[in-house]
Amino acid sequence: MEWARTGESSFRAGWPLAMYRSRVVPRSSLSGFELPIGELLRRGYPTDRLPGWLRAEPNRRVPIEPVWAGFAGNVVFWGALIFGVRAAARSGVRAMRRRVGRCVCCGYCIGDGARSCPECGLDGEPDHTAERARAATRTSSSP
Ligand SMILES: [Zn+2]
Repeated sequence: MEWARTGESSFRAGWPLAMYRSRVVPRSSLSGFELPIGELLRRGYPTDRLPGWLRAEPNRRVPIEPVWAGFAGNVVFWGALIFGVRAAARSGVRAMRRRVGRCVCCGYCIGDGARSCPECGLDGEPDHTAERARAATRTSSSP
């Protein structure tokens, strides 16, 4: 194979941190599945053996040896990103519902003076942002 003639080759995969790597140091006469499992993991999987429909670049390796620090960093990064986007979206929906006078929980239209949502039963003081906005408009327009 090409990598055996050119010498050492290494590949990394993962974003933002590398979480998989492969490194080939051609020093053994063994090859393929004759290699010990640790060496197979370290070398990665040759792209020449992948099915053609994947259109993998030839003479490369699919890194499969985990880089645990990169793994942990990527889990924290992607977890924070996913939960942050989800929390921002939920907060936006709740703010929009509050602004138009709907239940922040289920979106049901809450009538004026209601103490709880008639649809989902969300208890407590309903947010009267819409009522306050109407009252402010009335007082500012009155002489
Ligand atoms: Zn509700």
